[in-house]
Amino acid sequence: MKDGLVIAIDIGGTRIKAGLLDFNGNFVEKISVPTEAYLGKEKVLSNITSVIKNFMKYKVVAIGVAVASPLDPEKGIIYYPPNLPGFEVFNMKAFLEDRFSLPVFIDNDANLYALGEWWKGSGEKANILLCITIGTGIGGGLIFKGNIWHGAHGFGGEFGHITIDPHGPLCNCGNKGCFEAMSSSYFLIKYIKDRLNEGEASILSEFIEDLTPKLIYEAAVKGDTLAIEGFRIIGTNVGIGLASLVNALDPEVVVIGGGLSKAGMILMDPVKAEFNQRVLKGIRDRIQLKLAVLGEFSAVLGAAYLAIKGMGGGE
Ligand SMILES: [Zn+2]
Repeated sequence: MKDGLVIAIDIGGTRIKAGLLDFNGNFVEKISVPTEAYLGKEKVLSNITSVIKNFMKYKVVAIGVAVASPLDPEKGIIYYPPNLPGFEVFNMKAFLEDRFSLPVFIDNDANLYALGEWWKGSGEKANILLCITIGTGIGGGLIFKGNIWHGAHGFGGEFGHITIDPHGPLCNCGNKGCFEAMSSSYFLIKYIKDRLNEGEASILSEFIEDLTPKLIYEAAVKGDTLAIEGFRIIGTNVGIGLASLVNALDPEVVVIGGGLSKAGMILMDPVKAEFNQRVLKGIRDRIQLKLAVLGEFSAVLGAAYLAIKGMGGGE
């Protein structure tokens, strides 16, 4: 099947983003609404249902779904999504197939962000694409010839939990010094806050209780030494983590996205400096490190591709 339209939906803890797309990945329509996760499971499901219903007046052949949750992509079961309280163990695929009588294809949002960048973004359909997102955590995905690498137990691409420093700060997973614990926006904010509390001079001192990555970025752009140092440390840690991943996996292209990647060269210069020191020489001159380009609809595009491929389309 090479024609018709697909609905693609990205269910995050804050927003539900969705689109109606053709088999070439062109958006016919797109929409973004609040998830209202704090109102509980039934409200979230009703929001998802109305977003999809909105597109059902068209000739839709399949639905692709990205969810911010650990999940079993074949059965379509999500397991204890941390930002969707009340869902616990829930078969999202069966729920949507029952409601809409269409085939549903599902994967987690980080994997589908990677797949979206592979298909229509910086990934340029590379044979092996490694993608990381740097935000409140480190997300990741490995795309091998257009397929998501799930690993044997579904944890393939969980790059956030490789160790950067065995004595580093505690991670949510219980280990110390994980990539995620040392490269996230929380780490950046905590670093700046600690230094301000030690009396470091910075234009950020008046925002000490309300620090955000955006404020720190703006201070760095203005030449604030502490803010620049914060990004240098994050960038160095990202460079260490990426070099380990690249030495192990030897991808053609690396795509870096997520909220902190919006800092552009302020982040990427230290990333590249550290990465180039640590990556194997045979890889260094040939690999491309690129910033993600698709923005907030990347996982929607990935979900669309998953559905299109599931229906026999795609390249
Ligand atoms: Zn961890």
